[in-house]
Amino acid sequence: MNVYCENLKKLKDKISNENIKIVAVSKSHPVASIIELYKCGHRVFGENRALELNEKYEILKDHDMEWHMIGHLQRNKVKYIAPYVSLIHSVDSFRLLQEINKQAEKNDRIIDCLLQFHIATESTKFGFSIEECKEILKSDEFKKLQNVNICGVMGMATFTEDLEIVRKEFRTLKNIFNSLKVEFFEDNARFKEISMGMTSDWEIGIEESATILRIGTLIFGER
Ligand SMILES: *Cc1c(COP(=O)(O)O)cnc(C)c1O
Repeated sequence: MNVYCENLKKLKDKISNENIKIVAVSKSHPVASIIELYKCGHRVFGENRALELNEKYEILKDHDMEWHMIGHLQRNKVKYIAPYVSLIHSVDSFRLLQEINKQAEKNDRIIDCLLQFHIATESTKFGFSIEECKEILKSDEFKKLQNVNICGVMGMATFTEDLEIVRKEFRTLKNIFNSLKVEFFEDNARFKEISMGMTSDWEIGIEESATILRIGTLIFGER
């Protein structure tokens, strides 16, 4: 077994819940590394830049892979990934969501999306506030969007050694999820995902009820 597969196996052995989805974050790693991980059966990969995602997709499109967009997405890049992307984790504005809807329609698809929330203390991280998001979900403009499917929420914790801060922020995201579920998605079984947890904090993510982890370094090594 190659080293990436070993790393993934070690991680999976520590996770008792088999329903937790692991997105292997391959940004800045070559296509050859992705193929190594594909060889042991892994199918879900994530990138944080649309153009890099697109380059890799073009090379690998004959493989049955799921590609997730996990990083900040500019509206003018949506058209490149709309034909194939499986899940966009990083919807952080209504205008972006409208553009995703438009491009999905052009491709005759419904694109799965997560709403990204700003849970960290750093001002550099993208995402909605809960108030802002609720305004959007209430609006008639939102209800018109037929080609996007809102599957849940995503967040990134503050970059800190202090794991109690991380835990608090993840708990905030879980509370946001619960609140949106009750108010807007009660009868919608597809609204069920919480994408939180990376190499440094995935264990806390799971303890705080993550359903999707986004793991780069732990699988592919340092970037
Ligand atoms: C890079 C990245 C990850 C993975 O980070 P690691 O610390 O390498 O596991 C997760 N989420 C997002 C949004 C990223 O950009």
